Amino acid sequence: DVIEGPLMDGMNVVGDLFGAGKMFLPQVVKSARVMKRAVAHLIPYIEAEKAAGGGGRQSNGKVIMATVKGDVHDIGKNIVGVVLQCNNFEVVDLGVMVSCDKILAAAREHNADLIGLSGLITPSLDEMVHVASEMQRLGYDQPLLIGGATTSPAHTAVKIDPRYRGPVIYVKDASRAVGVCQQLVTPETRTAYIQKIKLENATRREQHAGRSAKAPQLSLAEARANRAQFDWSAHPPAVPRMLGVRAFDDWSIEELTRYIDWTPFFQAWELHGRFPDILTDKVVGEQASKLYDDARHMLRTIIRERWLRARAVFGLFPANSSGDDVIVYADEQRGEPLQVLNFLRQQKDLPKDMPHAALADYIAPTGSGVRDYIGAFAITAGIGIEAQVAKFTAAHDDYSSIMLKVLADRLAEALAERLHERVRREFWGYAADEKLGNEQLIREEYRGIRPAPGYPSCPDHTEKAKLFALLDAHHKAGITLTESYAMHPAAAVSGWYFAHPEARYINLGKIGRDQVVDYAHRKGMTLGEAERWLAPSLGYEPATEPIAALAAAAAAAPGAA
Ligand code: SAH
Repeated sequence: DVIEGPLMDGMNVVGDLFGAGKMFLPQVVKSARVMKRAVAHLIPYIEAEKAAGGGGRQSNGKVIMATVKGDVHDIGKNIVGVVLQCNNFEVVDLGVMVSCDKILAAAREHNADLIGLSGLITPSLDEMVHVASEMQRLGYDQPLLIGGATTSPAHTAVKIDPRYRGPVIYVKDASRAVGVCQQLVTPETRTAYIQKIKLENATRREQHAGRSAKAPQLSLAEARANRAQFDWSAHPPAVPRMLGVRAFDDWSIEELTRYIDWTPFFQAWELHGRFPDILTDKVVGEQASKLYDDARHMLRTIIRERWLRARAVFGLFPANSSGDDVIVYADEQRGEPLQVLNFLRQQKDLPKDMPHAALADYIAPTGSGVRDYIGAFAITAGIGIEAQVAKFTAAHDDYSSIMLKVLADRLAEALAERLHERVRREFWGYAADEKLGNEQLIREEYRGIRPAPGYPSCPDHTEKAKLFALLDAHHKAGITLTESYAMHPAAAVSGWYFAHPEARYINLGKIGRDQVVDYAHRKGMTLGEAERWLAPSLGYEPATEPIAALAAAAAAAPGAA
């Protein structure tokens, strides 16, 4: 009675105000903390009553939530879970890196009404397709909710929805989740809503089919002929002051607080606007200021009580390009390569005077006689986070748990920024006199770039394996890679350093089959494997299944041996 009376009345007010844009996510998560603690207090009484033959609690519905296999990112999923709980949904959160089997077993065990999948990196998209296919194969019928940074209405409609006869719904953010779930569990709205979703997905698929047919492209040979070219002898590469690998076991978090880019901090809490203006914004200013105060208070505790340890490793290596690859050497002998990095080249339509670039273009080619270099780095600010998160979970404090994760992400980005600055000024030393404020660093007003595998210049996540091998990042920075090449702990950043003054982040765009065939060959992958890892960049429909079927047919044919 206490839960369903005053507590739910209160949460309904919160839910309505949030839905109407008059309350913001941080307030909702804090309200949920009150609710959760009250419920936790009452549970022993409810259990005792049930044992004595009384009634249990009525919930709106049961939702299984999980970050899919290979992915470790869970801030968004946790926020959605909290918001659903506020609205009297029972949430069974399976955590991160959850295999399809576990998700489906939990759905059966708990007799779930809904299943929610979350993921941040592109390989997770594939895993979501897999879960949908398995739900179909095993006869599930629950609605499947899809969310997370790389998910989209298009991917949901084109790749996931056709695999599953049940409803598949893309959920953009926490503020949408309640409306979607409510419609799905309410008998009066359910059927019409599901029909509407199926129709929307089908319409999106048709639009998509019309569009992808006319994706304009250069052939790989044409793109290579138009690569970015530089006069290496006029502007020779800067020679690093040190070569090899260097690690930092316990980087000062206090120092990093000055390097934080706060705008994404507010985005994580679904408050949109630029820092510091957001603090005085007419609509969200008051809440943004409170959130910022809470964040700075927690930062001081993180430092004082050593909740987090930051580790970093970077390396500077002799390197030369060879076509679209970069050959990395251990020393100036430039003998046996340490690694060969494979990059991808733009084939999309570009303005006439623009090159069709690959990151390899920014490194002097072998045979040019020019000695060039590349850097690599991997950092984390998330060592030790799990113990602290467990304490918050035990105290039913999602607000602090989410706050800590968001801050750890911010500290990781700040460390990437600070380490890059020290590399430019001290270790590589090509910008020894650089003096930029945090605003200028955020605007990237310095020379050189630090592209990260999995991002638009180099979208293949598997190249992280080479980066980690070069740096021994597992032992030297305490970061591991999952089977989808997500970094664990989640508050981690890795990438390459390019020092060329003209180096820019490239947006690869869609690439042709000719390049994927070439790339698969360079990487020693089958075409199917390459297509799987490059799925978001393919400018064509992969023919993996027919080819596999052909190969199988050929192998089975009489006299095939
Ligand atoms: N100040 C931001 C910095 C991170 S976003 C923050 O605190 O969140 C910018 C970083 O993302 C870059 O330094 C680079 O590592 C990566 N990045 C952005 N665009 C990229 C692209 N097109 N290709 C590769 N990496 C990219």
